Amino acid sequence: MTTTVQPPAMPEPIEAPLTDERIVPALIDGQSVYLPCPAWCSIDHVRDNQKFLEDVWHSGPFSDLEVPRRDNTPGLMAYARIGMDPFSRDERMRRPFIFVEDGNSSEGSYMDAEHAETFADNLVAFAEKIRSMGRALKAVTA
Ligand SMILES: [Zn+2]
Repeated sequence: MTTTVQPPAMPEPIEAPLTDERIVPALIDGQSVYLPCPAWCSIDHVRDNQKFLEDVWHSGPFSDLEVPRRDNTPGLMAYARIGMDPFSRDERMRRPFIFVEDGNSSEGSYMDAEHAETFADNLVAFAEKIRSMGRALKAVTA
């Protein structure tokens, strides 16, 4: 029996400038309101129904890093998204940031653009090491 593992679907690229926004409907404690929302935000603010306006947050689509396993059930190692917390007391959270988390802990990493470049370089170097390990393993197990 042959099992084919499909790579995860690539998230849609964010094409609109991060500064573009629109006015969207939202529910705040069950009350209908309209609020500005970045064009890249994929949250349905009606379904999200936050208790307080200050809890409204914006998020772009999630990009997942999955790890294949021997039993063909890929595991989520990490995900990343663009986010913004418009009512945060922290000025850095009120503008777009990149958030990376492993999905298992309550803490993640907030990154600005320069951090994302460094992180991407680290991922490429990591991927090259994994590929090299795989080739070495293949040479032994072939
Ligand atoms: Zn939004």
